[in-house]
Formats: sequence, structure tokens, C-alpha cells
Amino acid sequence: MKQETLCVQAGYRPETGESRIPQICQSTTFYYGDSQKMADLFDLKSDGFFYSRLANPTVEALERKIAALEGGTYGLGCASGMSAILLTALTVCGAGDNIVCASQVYGGTFNLFAVTLPRLGVECRFFEADAPAEEIEKLVDDRTKFIFAETVANPAIVVLDFGKIAAICKRHSLLFVVDNTLATPVLCRPFEWGANIVVHSTTKYIDGHAAALGGMIVDGANFRFKGNPRYPSFDLPDESYHGLVYSDLPVAFGTKCRAQMIRDTGAIMSPQNAFLTFLGCDTLALRMQKHCRNAEKIASFLSAHPKIEWVRYASLETDAHHALAKKYLPDGTGGMMSFGIKGSAADCARFMEALKIITQETHVADVRSCVLHPASTTHRQLSEEALIAAGIAPNLVRLSVGIEDADDLIEDLSRALDRV
Ligand SMILES: *Cc1c(COP(=O)(O)O)cnc(C)c1O
Repeated sequence: MKQETLCVQAGYRPETGESRIPQICQSTTFYYGDSQKMADLFDLKSDGFFYSRLANPTVEALERKIAALEGGTYGLGCASGMSAILLTALTVCGAGDNIVCASQVYGGTFNLFAVTLPRLGVECRFFEADAPAEEIEKLVDDRTKFIFAETVANPAIVVLDFGKIAAICKRHSLLFVVDNTLATPVLCRPFEWGANIVVHSTTKYIDGHAAALGGMIVDGANFRFKGNPRYPSFDLPDESYHGLVYSDLPVAFGTKCRAQMIRDTGAIMSPQNAFLTFLGCDTLALRMQKHCRNAEKIASFLSAHPKIEWVRYASLETDAHHALAKKYLPDGTGGMMSFGIKGSAADCARFMEALKIITQETHVADVRSCVLHPASTTHRQLSEEALIAAGIAPNLVRLSVGIEDADDLIEDLSRALDRV
């Protein structure tokens, strides 16, 4: 099935007489009359629900839908995008291990990898997204557990060179983890380009309505852990699961992540948020087409405007990442762009305050257009050098183009630029 069909049909199929859409299964626990059946569940010998800290039917419907959209095998609904990334790291990393990560990533991810994980003994080595393969490869050693990058980086709007990273990972039998939040599986499917694990903040386009926080991990089940000396914990019996050996299972990473990390952290998505996100997913393909067409018009308008210094939007032919966008996101690069106003940070503030339709928000990637000045908000904790490394100039404005009428948005931008 194509993405439009999967968006509305995948993930849940009722039996006769059941509700057409998944119900919000608002129950922490599940009844069993048979104690052997319960024991089998605890041993992961059979499928079923027993406690909503581990799995829940509403969450499972969304997991199946997003796994189908990504062309992956197994989904894990998480409390937020950040918890999806944290749980991914905890599934494979321990003290003494390291992660190799693009510098151009979401600010929260940067904090997790640069500040919090090092406190647990996990080091993160950052590379410039545009750096040559040899330079990135030098960061990999035998304690590296994965390379991490975003399909379309937030907020730097850099397009990932999948081929470059996938080749390094293949050479080193190393996991390739991709944050596909801003592209969504409608515009890009990372498994087709060599990724092994895909993570999402479903809080953004997948929910799409700014209604529900959530994250998703999708296991492509396309990586061989068995006998790989880089991941000894996958070959050793898990004493907390009666000697289960994850590398023997068809879904090694996903099962280990749920059995150990979701179990131990409780960072699972709530049924209410899974329900709202499932509804959002129904229109994801339609919305992404409109986000792309609107953003393309706006990027052209801004590029030609005398008060704009530069525009970063990979669908623009003049953009440094246009060739990568054409290859990996041929149907469009989404609604996110950034641009520089000719002027200071104060000019950026004047411009944003003059907007009438487009609002100032921390959020991005939902139906309503919004702007943000990262240097003074989301990224204000970063040093000047880290800001520059993350591709964030003081006059950078991040614009998330919604699904309103493009001409209304252009008029709003035009009026506000007149104030600068
Ligand atoms: C927002 C975002 C996250 C974090 O997601 P939350 O749901 O806010 O925890 C991670 N990665 C990217 C690319 C994001 O845009």
C-alpha cells in the first residue's frame, strides 16, 4: 500500500462489532483467569497486555501504524521524542561507550548527548553534517554504539546524506539511528537508505495539531546483532528475563528496548496521547503535501525579499542541500525553514511581534504557522561556539509553515518585514 492508504488504514483493524477506531484503553492492568498464561507473558513467550507501563492496546495501534508507514518491523510508543532518543541510547550504551552524532540536531538531543549522557559515562562525539566521510569515520572506535543524525535537521534545515553515513555504519557493523521527525515517513523512509532504527517526536507533524506529546522508536529489524562483538549484551542471557538472548529474536533491538528500558523507565506513551496521535496520523499524507507546497511558495517569496539576507530551505534550487533533498526527499522537504533578517536580534524581535497570523511559539511542525528565534529561546543555553556549530546565527528566524492559505501567510510576512 502507498503512504496515503497506510496513513488511514494501517495499525488497527476491528473485528465484527468492535469500534471502528481504536478505543482509549484507559486501564493500567489487564485480567487473566489463567496463571500459566500470565507466566508466559512475563517470560515474553506469548503476546498480550498485562500492565500499561510495558504495553497498551491504544499505544500498540499507533506503534503498528507508524511502523507500517516507515516500512519497519516493530514500533515502541514513548512518552516524548526525547524519551524515544534516551531509550534508544540506553538500549545499547553503557559506561565507557560512545555515540557519534551530527552537530546539527535538535537542541534537546544535543543536551542529552553532550551533557546528560556523559554524566553516566557515555561520551558523544559530534561531527559537522557536511564533513567528508573519512573525517566522520575517524570518530568511530570499537566502543561506538551508533551514529545518529536527523533526516532534516531542526533547526539547521540540513538534509542528511544517508549514503555517506550508511556506508560508514556498514563498514563497522554499526547501528545507524535516524531522527525522522521533520521529514515524516510521508516524505522520506530512512530504512530504504540504510537506517536500522528510526526515532520520532510524534509531537510534531505526526500528531500535527499540537495536542499530544509523544515519541516513537521503529526497529527496522535489518541489523545482525548475533556474534557482533560491538554489542555483547545482545548475545548474553538477560538474567532479568530468565536468560532470554535478544540476538536470537527476530526483533532484537525493539524487544530489548521494551523488555528492559520501557520496563525500567516507564517512559511509555499514554493511551490518551496515542489516541490523539493516531487521529492525527490519518491526515498526515494530506497535510505534508500542503506544508510542502506552502513552504515552497514562501521560501521563494523570502528569497526575493530585500530585507532577507539568506533562506535555508532545501527545496530551493539555490540551497546547499538541494541535491540531497532531490535524492532523498523528492516530494518535498516539509514546512520548516530558516532565514536571516538583514539586521540584529532586536530586528528579529520587531519582525516577529509585527506578525498577525503567524505566532511566536516554541513548538514547530503543526497545522498552524509559527516562528521562533532559537538564539534567544530553545538554544539560549548553548555557548556562542556551540550555537555556530549548530548552524544558528543571531539573526536566524525559524519558520514552521502551516496549512493555512499561502497568500495570507505571505501577506503577513510582507507586512511584518516592512517594520524592520
Ligand atoms: C521536538 C523534537 C524532538 C524532541 O521531541 P519531544 O516530543 O519534544 O520530546 C526530537 N527531535 C526532533 C527533530 C524534534 O524536532
